[in-house]
Amino acid sequence: MSFTSLGLSDFLLRTLEEQGYKRPTPIQQQAIPLVLEGRDLLAAAQTGSGKTAAFSLPILQKLNEQPIAGYRAVRALILVPTRELAAQVATAVQTYARHLPLSLKITAVYGGVKINPQMMALRGGSDIVIATPGRLLDLLDQNAVKLSSVETLVLDEADRMLDLGFADELNGVLRRLPKKRQNLLFSATFPDEVKALTKQLLDNPGQIAVESEYKVADRVQQRAIEVDRHNRTALLSDLVKQQGWQRVLVFVASKRGANNVAMKLAKRGINAQALHGDMNQSARNRALADFKAKKVQVLVVTDLIARGIDIAQLPCVVNYDLPRSPADYVHRIGRTARAGEQGQALSFIGHEDDNHFKLIEKRTEQEIAREQIPGFERSETPPAELDAPKGPVKGKRKSKKDKAREAAAKQQQLEANQQIWKKTQP
Ligand code: AMP
Repeated sequence: MSFTSLGLSDFLLRTLEEQGYKRPTPIQQQAIPLVLEGRDLLAAAQTGSGKTAAFSLPILQKLNEQPIAGYRAVRALILVPTRELAAQVATAVQTYARHLPLSLKITAVYGGVKINPQMMALRGGSDIVIATPGRLLDLLDQNAVKLSSVETLVLDEADRMLDLGFADELNGVLRRLPKKRQNLLFSATFPDEVKALTKQLLDNPGQIAVESEYKVADRVQQRAIEVDRHNRTALLSDLVKQQGWQRVLVFVASKRGANNVAMKLAKRGINAQALHGDMNQSARNRALADFKAKKVQVLVVTDLIARGIDIAQLPCVVNYDLPRSPADYVHRIGRTARAGEQGQALSFIGHEDDNHFKLIEKRTEQEIAREQIPGFERSETPPAELDAPKGPVKGKRKSKKDKAREAAAKQQQLEANQQIWKKTQP
C-alpha cells in the first residue's frame, strides 16, 4: 500500500517523500481515508505508530481544499497532554504542511511559559491550534482565541490527558466547541474514564487498533540486568563508556532521582542532564534540544516528561528504576527502535524489584533472561531490611503465616505474664 492510494494530494506526497516515508504505517492506512471522509475516529495507538501523521495529513488536506477567505478562524484543534508533545506535534504539522499551496497558520500554546507571546501569536487567528487544555482555557477566558469555527477536534493521548487530571479543563474546552464537528480520539489504553469520554464525544466512529496495549516492539532487544541498587550508577556509567552509545535515555522514578542520577553520572565524567517537571520550560526545552542535537549523551527523565517524546536514533533506553505499570514499561522501551531502527532496553533489577519485574513480564507475555555484568554481580542474598521488614507495610494485608506468628507471640507473652502473675501471688 502506498500513500498515493490513500487519496493524499501531490503537495503532501512530496513532503512525505522528502521525509523518507516510503509507505503508510498501519494506523495511517486505516485512519487517513476515514478522516478524509469526515468520519469520527477511535484509535488505539501508541506513540511510534505514526499517529501524528495519521491525523494531521488528512486534516491538512481538507483545510487546503476548502479554504475560507478572510479571518483565520481556528478550524482544527489538537489537544495534547504535555507541553513537549504540543511543541513536537506542531513541528510535525508544520513540516507536513510545507508544500501546500495555501499557507496555513499553525500555533502551539501550552502552559509553563508566558501567556502574552501566545496571545500575540493568536492575534489574527490561526488555522490549526495545538494546545494543552489548561492554557487553552486561560486563552479562551482572555478572549485571545475563538473556537466557534472548529471543524475537527483531535484528542491525542487521551488516557494521559485524564491521568494528568485534565478532565475539568477538557470539559471546559469541549463546551466551547461547536456541536457539529469531527472528533478524532487517540489513546494507548482504555480505562473507564477514557471509555466514558469516547461515548460522550464520538458519533459512530471508525475504530482502529494497531497494537495491543502490551505488545512490545519486536525490534527492541530487552535485557534484564541483576544489580544491587547501590551499584546502579557505577554500572550505568561503565556501560555508557564501554558501549559507545551516542544517546541514552534513562528513566527514574522521581524528579529528585533524576537530578541525583544526572549529577552522579556527571561526576563520573559523563555528559548527563536531567529533565523533569520541576524545571522551568526553557530549561526543559534546552535539555531536550541538546539531547536531540547530541550535545548531551545521557538524559535522565521521569515518566511524565518522556511520554510521547520522539527522539530519532536513540539506541538505548535504561530503566534505572522500574516503571510502575507494564503499560509504562512498554511505553518507555518504545522510545528506542523507532521507525525501523534497532534499539536496546535495559532494566536494572535489584532484589527489591524481582517480583515487580516478574509481573511486567507476565503482563507483557514474555520472559527476559536475567544477566549479571562482571564486576557488578548482584549480591546473593537480599539486603537485611528486605529479609526482616520492620513492621507491616501500610495497606498490606497480613499473610496466614504472619497471623500465626503473631498469635504464637501473643500466646507466649500471655503465658509469660501468667508466670509473672503467679510468682507475684502471695
Ligand atoms: P508518532 O507515532 O506520530 O510519534 O511518529 C513516530 C515517528 O515515526 C516519527 O518520527 C515520524 O516522523 C515517523 N513516521 C511517521 N510515519 C512514518 C512513515 N509512514 N514511515 C516512516 N516513518 C514514519
